Amino acid sequence: MQMDPQELLSLCKRRGFLWPAYDIYGAVSGLYDYGPLGAALKNNIENQWRRLYVLQEGFYEISCPVVAPEPVFKASGHVDAFCDVYVECTSCGETYRADHLAAGMHPNPASLGEHELGKLLKANGVKCVECKGELTEPKRFNLMFKTSIGAGKGKTAYLRPETAQGMFVNFAQVYRYGRERLPFGAVQVGRAFRNEISPRQGLIRLREFSMMEAELFVHPEDKTWPGFRKVKDRAMPLVPSKGDPRTIRLDEAVKAKVIGNEVLAYYMWLTYKFALDIGLDPARLRFRQHEKTEMAHYASDCWDLEAETGYGWIELVGVADRGCYDVQAHIDHSGADLTAFERFDEPKEVEQDVVKPDFGELGPLFKGKAKKVAEALSRLSPESAKGKDKVMVEVDGEKVSVPAKCFEVSRRKEKVSGRKIVPHVIEPSYGVDRMMFALLDHAYSKKDDYVTLRLKPLVAPIKVGVFPLMPKDGLDEIAQGIYNDLTGAGFDSYLDDSGSIGRRYARMDEVGTPWCVTVDYDTKNDGTVTVRDRDTAEQTRIKKEKVPKAIEALVKGAGLSSLNTLR
Ligand code: AMP
Repeated sequence: MQMDPQELLSLCKRRGFLWPAYDIYGAVSGLYDYGPLGAALKNNIENQWRRLYVLQEGFYEISCPVVAPEPVFKASGHVDAFCDVYVECTSCGETYRADHLAAGMHPNPASLGEHELGKLLKANGVKCVECKGELTEPKRFNLMFKTSIGAGKGKTAYLRPETAQGMFVNFAQVYRYGRERLPFGAVQVGRAFRNEISPRQGLIRLREFSMMEAELFVHPEDKTWPGFRKVKDRAMPLVPSKGDPRTIRLDEAVKAKVIGNEVLAYYMWLTYKFALDIGLDPARLRFRQHEKTEMAHYASDCWDLEAETGYGWIELVGVADRGCYDVQAHIDHSGADLTAFERFDEPKEVEQDVVKPDFGELGPLFKGKAKKVAEALSRLSPESAKGKDKVMVEVDGEKVSVPAKCFEVSRRKEKVSGRKIVPHVIEPSYGVDRMMFALLDHAYSKKDDYVTLRLKPLVAPIKVGVFPLMPKDGLDEIAQGIYNDLTGAGFDSYLDDSGSIGRRYARMDEVGTPWCVTVDYDTKNDGTVTVRDRDTAEQTRIKKEKVPKAIEALVKGAGLSSLNTLR
């Protein structure tokens, strides 16, 4: 069902999923607060994701600062390239993303540069949406929030626009932690910041949002994947940049080079499966491939998992083959050794470039430290030193700049036990808030003004509503006891003793609570309570002591009829 996103947002505000942030000061678009139900739903999505990536797939979870000094984003390319194009109204000052204004005038306006967008808007006579005023020529705008670290002039810094860079700059540490083996992966779940131009679409375009990102470091010449065998016959709906949209088996997609390699295909599948597991509607999901001109500056192939919502098709997750772009960029800019070591089966005689320290120059320049600087130089990859007028190395935790006269990159015949390689990266990058919005959108169902959120138990913020028929005659105490047992067993529950039972069911249905337990006068006689299922409205009676056990079975997917034994 295509729904009005405003209707969903108003439910979210009313029932405590989310609120516009700083509302008492007029609010700021693109910033939202999560209320208790929103925070719980978000945590459930994130925890399910951790279960998949950390427990099942074995990625290492790390957590890095949200603020980073400028060189990090200079190296990553974000300072120069992380831009959107905007136009401004010359009368009222309203700003717009130029590609959004050009929607419908070109098959993919996001793939156009500022000049092409300018021409397109002019040719179509586009004016300010608010006041019909003239618009400026399109200009590029960097989306990173700039700040500074420290007092006075301080150091230029940025709030991270993605969590990924934390994993790249820590490559060497995590590689060492993982016993120096490729492939391995790192994940991070945390906040990212993008100073979006005039965000107008609720949770879809936020200025601060949460990401769940996984970086899988693989051998650059080996993108086969052991896990691929298990999933190769599964099919996904694909919209390739060339050719017709179609649902296609993974092995066929890789064979026909629709998807570039097995690792990328496997992680696309995992992403698709995660979306299904948490409850997104398969009929409203697809993977769309980026066109070359649309791709982020770091990606060599990229597929977006998109969901159809009240805002149309929106990107929830980007799964990209980032090649060696980021790791190589940090090697080049920092001089750090961010390579992996590939050990050969047998030592080999090879002719290769090596970085050879010149002690004659190092001695006078670095004195007591010269030996350690020389060792650090020998560890550098030749590519990171070749043709440079200086390189940075780390000695005793300190960065040292070494001029080119202190080393030489030369070719040598040597017996070597292995070689240094710069890993390639496959990255699934999930936006938590968008996932959450799409989940709510797909779960929303309305019949004769009665709203039910059909959220899966796995993610539902409240698993059980507990109601005493009357808040008296000891029913309230029994309900409190059941509530305590449920929360003690780890199930988020909600005790509600006000209003008619019908009203209380409706309140729970509207926030997606899968089951309600009601304590009535029969409970006092025979010790049983009713358990009601949200989606079927069926009810069954079971012994009150068995409620936590029953909920455990229901969460695992057993239907109400399985509770017969608990009567
Ligand atoms: P990207 O790095 O642009 O591919 O973004 C990765 C994921 O982050 C996207 O698939 C979205 O789910 C999410 N995302 C990106 N920008 C925003 C935003 N402004 N607000 C909310 N989520 C976003």
